[in-house]
Amino acid sequence: MLPENFIQSVQHLKGFDKEKFEAIHNSEEQITSVRINPEKKCSIFLEEEYKQVAWCKYGFYLPERPSFTLDPCFHAGAYYVQEASSMFLWHIVEQIFGTNTEQKILDVCAAPGGKSTLLASYFYNGLIVSNEVIKQRAAVLAENITKWGTTNNIVTNNDPKNFAYLKNYFDAVVIDAPCSGSGMFRKDVTAVEEWSLDNVTLCSQRQQRIIADVWDSLKENGYLIYSTCSYSEEENEQITDWIMDNFIAKSVQIFIPNNWHIETTQSNKHKAFGYRFYPDKIKGEGFFITVLQKKESIATHKFKQQQLQQPTKQELALLNSFIVLQNEVKLFKYHNEIKAIDEKWYNDVAILSQQLYIKKAGTIIGEIKGKDFVPHHELAVGTLRLSNIATLELDKDNALQYLRKKEIAVSSPNKGMVLVTYQGLSLGWIKVMQHRMNNYYPSEWRILKS
Ligand code: SAM
Repeated sequence: MLPENFIQSVQHLKGFDKEKFEAIHNSEEQITSVRINPEKKCSIFLEEEYKQVAWCKYGFYLPERPSFTLDPCFHAGAYYVQEASSMFLWHIVEQIFGTNTEQKILDVCAAPGGKSTLLASYFYNGLIVSNEVIKQRAAVLAENITKWGTTNNIVTNNDPKNFAYLKNYFDAVVIDAPCSGSGMFRKDVTAVEEWSLDNVTLCSQRQQRIIADVWDSLKENGYLIYSTCSYSEEENEQITDWIMDNFIAKSVQIFIPNNWHIETTQSNKHKAFGYRFYPDKIKGEGFFITVLQKKESIATHKFKQQQLQQPTKQELALLNSFIVLQNEVKLFKYHNEIKAIDEKWYNDVAILSQQLYIKKAGTIIGEIKGKDFVPHHELAVGTLRLSNIATLELDKDNALQYLRKKEIAVSSPNKGMVLVTYQGLSLGWIKVMQHRMNNYYPSEWRILKS
């Protein structure tokens, strides 16, 4: 049963059809969709039975929900389980940026990483800074981004106000705001139980705060992409009006084919465009998204070029047996770990680490332990090119045993660090010794389900 005061609060909204909306919520229909990782070749969702999500070329609907936990490809980062409406962000960035993908993007409310992994795929040569304020959720975000494997990601764990020093820094800021969650009513009964008008008000105040905190970090003519999974006008169109009341911004209209059945709305005061997803009209959950272009400038702070600690010649020699360093990749050291990021984003790591808590930056290659170079899990599952290192392809049972961090019953002719794969997708390292092997899969990510 949907809350009566919820229905009353939204029934005046454009595109809201009470009967159809209630009917779809009373139906048993559940939609499952995934977005595949273009960097990790996995063709299973390209078969006929998987229908494509209209607004995202890598999005696919599944005929039913499989056990993702028991699919090694899922752990290898071959796809991300993402609600289809959210994938509309792909269409938005495609319209705004086209082929200009070398952009600096901040994803302010990023955990668990749905939007960030989408952005990482689209801006494959850009920089994605994924932030999450809640520590435990930032750990999950870092895990999902590591599995996704892209190199040019920085994960931070900060309050949005900590970004204030980065004046005129980002080409786009994505705020997928914490919200009252009515868009998830069909998927999640607790969202229905927890919904209240008071919470809508609280969320709307928090959304305004987050926007105000990060506004200065957006460049002049940069784009603010704001979304919620709420139907409430207070968290959607009224927020766009609030932005246009308080800052100098222009609404950006996105072209949408009619047969996608996405509802275009306009805010009351400034007539700013917004896009609403109703589950009785589209194949996905409730969602709202809007785009504003910043039309004001503030003085830019000039950050000095900075050097991060560099690996020594000996360390580099050891490391070269594991990785083919592409010209554009630059290495740096943090504590004992050697990391890599595209050269063009190297200075950003230094600038961001001045005032932000960096949870992850680029790809950790590994560390020197005694006379050995120990490759890191991020290198195994990342998309940097590896040297001719030994690999061992596992069948499904052994891949799952590996992901449970158990011993695997296979023998390898190679000794030392061996990369284990499933269907050609890297899962992680094992160390093969004379009579046994050690499983290097990260303990905190192991599958607990038998
Ligand atoms: N963008 C994510 C994705 O696509 O996977 C989902 C983000 S979720 C809708 C909103 C996030 O905002 C949550 O991870 C939540 O922890 C975070 N959050 C909660 N309160 C916040 C605040 N005051 N400032 C910034 N983020 C906040």
